[in-house]
Amino acid sequence: MQYNEINEKSGMTMYDIIIVGAGPAGLTSALYALRANKKVLLLEAKSYGGQIINAHRIENYPGISAISGFDYATTLYNQVLSLGGMIRYERVQEVLKDKTVITNKDTYQAKSIIIATGCERRKLNIEREEEFVGHGISYCATCDGAFFKDLDVAVVGGGNTALEEALYLANLARKVYLIHRCNTFKAQDAYIEEVHKKDNIELILNAEVETLKGSDKLESVTIRHDGTLEDLAVSGLFIAIGLTPNNTAFENILKLDSDGYIVSANGETNCEGIYVAGDARTKDVRQLTTAVADGTIAATLAMTYLNNLKDE
Ligand SMILES: Cc1cc2nc3c(=O)[nH]c(=O)nc-3n(C[C@H](O)[C@H](O)[C@H](O)COP(=O)(O)OP(=O)(O)OC[C@H]3O[C@@H](n4cnc5c(N)ncnc54)[C@H](O)[C@@H]3O)c2cc1C
Repeated sequence: MQYNEINEKSGMTMYDIIIVGAGPAGLTSALYALRANKKVLLLEAKSYGGQIINAHRIENYPGISAISGFDYATTLYNQVLSLGGMIRYERVQEVLKDKTVITNKDTYQAKSIIIATGCERRKLNIEREEEFVGHGISYCATCDGAFFKDLDVAVVGGGNTALEEALYLANLARKVYLIHRCNTFKAQDAYIEEVHKKDNIELILNAEVETLKGSDKLESVTIRHDGTLEDLAVSGLFIAIGLTPNNTAFENILKLDSDGYIVSANGETNCEGIYVAGDARTKDVRQLTTAVADGTIAATLAMTYLNNLKDE
């Protein structure tokens, strides 16, 4: 164990592994590294759990028939804490090749780093979007749906998340408009079937939201539907149009693809001793199972790297 190891040059504590992001991938890496007795620091910008904390119900995690995202994330988080995991709520702003990690509050040093910063919801980027966030606009139905009980709302998007959000809201709201710019959905067949069965979900295809209206809160949206402008009176607009990776802090040293994902075939990056896990990396499937698998692989790669350092 190197618990009190100090970097001779800087006088700072030297961590074996700093993990950036406490979502499912980062927490899994921490679990593996802590069980191997490594000195680990987790740095998290917001709250533990990452995106999954917003999932209303998880039904595709092997071995668990159904669990809420909050319960899943909290169980994993507590498992990491029970192993002595240390977490600091700080946003990582830069990582240097020598494995110095600079946050909005402090600077840390490690022998290896795992980046598990995941993704964030994409914005519509139209006028007044920022102004109405928390006043009618939301990026998470599970978090905010209850505020719209028995009201009319709209969901924008055509993927799994958009359909899941529409289905969740259909159980709370009076009516749900599902607005999608194409005429087919890019979602699991099971979600598409369920959406078609719901009486209070109205599909508006080939349509885009152009204008947001209201005084101090959202009252209606103007959509361009098959080329014509239409007003929809809604109290809530849930935006579910895709993901943006949280990788800008690493673009100085790591290779990113054109969408901003860290280029990696199996957890390794272009920098020795720096690994990536979960939704933040280039991959075909971004799910809980693949995030925790990546967390396992990145921790194993980091530990092999640490062992090789010891032998040098
Ligand atoms: C509403 C919703 C429902 C979902 N339902 C399911 C489901 O049922 N089944 C399933 O398999 N998948 C589901 N997913 C997908 C799943 O949640 C993700 O694939 C998974 O969370 C990815 O894990 P991750 O750890 O890679 O990234 P994330 O979960 O995105 O976690 C990344 C973490 O890093 C932190 N971070 C980012 N940047 C920084 C920084 N600079 N410094 C410090 N910390 C930072 C973030 O705050 C976040 O906590 C769902 C996603 C959503 C949004």
